[in-house]
Amino acid sequence: EGVYEVHCNPTNALNDGVLVSFLDISDREQASQMRRDFVANVSHELRTPLTSLMGFIETLQGPAKDDAGARMQFLEIMSSEAARMERLVSDLLSLSRVEAEERLPLRDSVALGALLTSVISSLAPRASETAVEIMTDLSEHDLSVRAEADQLRQVFTNLIENAIKYGGAGGKVLVTLSAVEGQPALRGQPGVLVKVKDFGAGIDPLHIPRLTERFYRVDSHRSRQVGGTGLGLAIVKHIVQRHRGRLRIDSDLGKGAEFSVLLPRGDAV
Ligand code: ADP
Repeated sequence: EGVYEVHCNPTNALNDGVLVSFLDISDREQASQMRRDFVANVSHELRTPLTSLMGFIETLQGPAKDDAGARMQFLEIMSSEAARMERLVSDLLSLSRVEAEERLPLRDSVALGALLTSVISSLAPRASETAVEIMTDLSEHDLSVRAEADQLRQVFTNLIENAIKYGGAGGKVLVTLSAVEGQPALRGQPGVLVKVKDFGAGIDPLHIPRLTERFYRVDSHRSRQVGGTGLGLAIVKHIVQRHRGRLRIDSDLGKGAEFSVLLPRGDAV
């Protein structure tokens, strides 16, 4: 509140520097507020499976000690709770690595056709669990970008995995790769466009601007059920930013969702 008490004449605010310091304070305030929220969120997300694990351990030590049937059932739940914690920690590590490397130069030249083919084949078992069919149009197979290969792999893994998860059982996922002419979003440079489209329940446009926030989930119960941490799109956004690209989300309720990644072509970064 204190920052609002700064007195300045709006007409010469930029000259005497008052407005500048006003912005500094509120930026810093906002950053530290976001850090606090993040720590609170992480703690909460870790505590939920932990509390459940501790509950089951106690039950196994006491009331269910000699019940072989219950033991098997509880161990199964415990293993899935532990897996959830592991996913969360691994996503947190990815996020902090991406942030730490934000300013490092991009080392690899990555052929996108090959990368997408490899990501799709590694997700094939996941897709077949729910009879999802992944279709592709990678005819412009040879397009390449300057990138950090592992990070780009993670972007497309997260997007295609989401399409499989939220697109619905028995549905289709379409992955396309194409070249685009000079783009204002890329400061006039030609680009490469990758689209991941599903035909599931879609997303209310109201939620779209917030989807890339850490831990933001439209339906956190459903997200948990399908194994989500709420960090996938935050990681995607950071990586796309590092590659000087753009992420675009088009969706509406009942109309499926399309996630487009635009990257500068070749060695142009
Ligand atoms: P999560 O780990 O929960 O999947 P993400 O950051 O990857 O987290 O996605 C954030 C939220 O965006 C999801 O919880 C879900 O509500 C929504 N979402 C992401 N992809 C899709 C999609 N293809 N269709 C519908 N909703 C989606």
